[in-house]
Amino acid sequence: AGERELLSSGDVARTIARMAHQVIEKTALGAGGSTPPVLLGIPTRGTPLALRLADKIAEFSGIRPPTGALDITLYRDDLRRRPPRALEHSQLPPTGIDDAVVILVDDVLFSGRTIRAALDALRDHGRPRAVQLAVLVDRGHRELPIRADYVGKNVPTSRAEGIEVLLSEVDGRDSVLLRAQ
Ligand code: 5GP
Ligand code: MG
Repeated sequence: AGERELLSSGDVARTIARMAHQVIEKTALGAGGSTPPVLLGIPTRGTPLALRLADKIAEFSGIRPPTGALDITLYRDDLRRRPPRALEHSQLPPTGIDDAVVILVDDVLFSGRTIRAALDALRDHGRPRAVQLAVLVDRGHRELPIRADYVGKNVPTSRAEGIEVLLSEVDGRDSVLLRAQ
């Protein structure tokens, strides 16, 4: 099956930098009295993405948002149909999420079911002031009324295609590929 590179490693870096600027603007980070958003990555690849986004936000604004990871395994509505897998435990920042703007961070947005599960998982950890969503790739095919506030790249796909997201922390290099399956 063929594959095509959608984002080079340089494109990935530029895309995350652009998203960082958008977060700073939309959350009015640095404006008087505003508390920084909390960035929660959805494992696996959302977690390093959240850290990179926080690094860039710190570089551009001087303020590093608290980061963490939100495990959603137990909240999937299709859990019973899936093979059991290890729980990747949630790691919430010590500041907690009460009254904060929480930004969920994931690599690919597809049906929206993962984010729906993430919203359920969040409810067990506190009561954010607002929840936003940042994804590196939106590949379409939503099945729920969910949309991202920050999108690295919109990629119209067919259901038969897949997006391969490679991140150096997990995969040894940065790249986004469109794969015909
Ligand atoms: P959804 O729950 O929106 O259907 O799918 C999003 C979740 O499944 C994300 O956590 C993402 O990692 C994964 N996912 C769905 N489609 C793709 C895809 O084409 N490529 C990759 N890399 N992940 C996908
Ligand atoms: Mg995922």
